[in-house]
Amino acid sequence: MAKKRRGAGRRPPPEAPEVRRTRGPSTLGIHGLGREREPGDPVVLPIVQSATFLSDPVRGEAGVRYTRYGNNPTQIAVAEKLAALEGTEAAIVLASGMAATALTFLALTSAGDHVVASRLLYGWTHRFLAEELPLRGVGVTFVDPGGKRQWREALQPRTRALFFEVPTNPTLRVFDPHSLSMLAREHGIALVVDSTFASPVNLRPVGRGADAVIHSASKYLGGHSDLIAGVVCGSRGLVDEIQTKLKLYGPAIDPHAAWVLDRGLKTLAVRVARQNENALTLAGWFEEQPGVKQVIYPGLPSHPDHHLARKILSGYGGVLSIVLEGGDAAADGFCESLQVALNAPSLGGVETLVSQPRLTSHTTFTSAERSAMGIPSGFVRIAVGTEDVEDLIADFEMALNAARAA
Ligand SMILES: *Cc1c(COP(=O)(O)O)cnc(C)c1O
Repeated sequence: MAKKRRGAGRRPPPEAPEVRRTRGPSTLGIHGLGREREPGDPVVLPIVQSATFLSDPVRGEAGVRYTRYGNNPTQIAVAEKLAALEGTEAAIVLASGMAATALTFLALTSAGDHVVASRLLYGWTHRFLAEELPLRGVGVTFVDPGGKRQWREALQPRTRALFFEVPTNPTLRVFDPHSLSMLAREHGIALVVDSTFASPVNLRPVGRGADAVIHSASKYLGGHSDLIAGVVCGSRGLVDEIQTKLKLYGPAIDPHAAWVLDRGLKTLAVRVARQNENALTLAGWFEEQPGVKQVIYPGLPSHPDHHLARKILSGYGGVLSIVLEGGDAAADGFCESLQVALNAPSLGGVETLVSQPRLTSHTTFTSAERSAMGIPSGFVRIAVGTEDVEDLIADFEMALNAARAA
């Protein structure tokens, strides 16, 4: 990628960075691509809790290691593992998912440029695109992500990136990077996917034509609700540009947090397999319960994107949503009486977390607006954990009884 800021000219098309994944996600999550080992080496990745590193006394900035630069050995080891999991040339780990999103767009755009983004986004990502990028002279057009036509019509001469999430929160819509990759390539535009809800176990966007993949590692990658981190996987050129933004803006991940992420990755595949299984079981179970008006899960034939999800996902994911017949009062009664599942925002951890979008991610919308977005009264999002599914069923059964009484 060009280093100099561009004028009105087109940047060169982003390289297609897919690197074939030679091992499965369980093995890669544990060992990464493997490294030379000697007797006496630790089995576990060391935490290099050092801000700065000895340098060659007569060399300049070029060889400098400094933890804000993202080149601390623990940060690098985790980034390499994530690149291997996503099948990209390179990756960079950052202090949060928002840092990953923000730095990606700061790296891809400069004043006068333009971005086309899906309307269905994590709230803070939407705000970043709608409010922050324009302050930097970057225009953003939001589109309904379902049709290729809307994306094509929104293109401008200086469009630099197309961006969407998969699956989306909280209606779990699924979109295929492949359907936009030709359009992106044709125009030399980067196709960027936030794949937080899918995790590299259920989807590898680069294998379907995406140029860059963003994750909030605070969710499935970390997996224990004890970490805030983010990652961007893509070509070496893009990752280098993001690293320059990291040096300038500073959201470096602490070495200890990078190590916590590495530990999480070791169990990513087994956790996600269990979450896929628990969520599918629960979705089928909820569909048969009285008082449940609708169950939203890509693994159910009733979901609008079921066919596509079957085709492109290795698992349908750990998040499902339900709509209760009794409306918001029933949803409150349901949430208040849970004893195993916890009421909390976020997702991807081993513990089942339940939240009501009207009180969390979608508070700024009116109830009519939420209905139009597929989030009617009585809507509850369930981010399924790895507990024994019988215990979750017993808990939800009790909560549904309480909801019907409410
Ligand atoms: C949580 C989340 C983010 C933001 O990640 P943080 O780690 O909280 O900064 C971005 N995108 C999606 C889809 C998320 O769920």
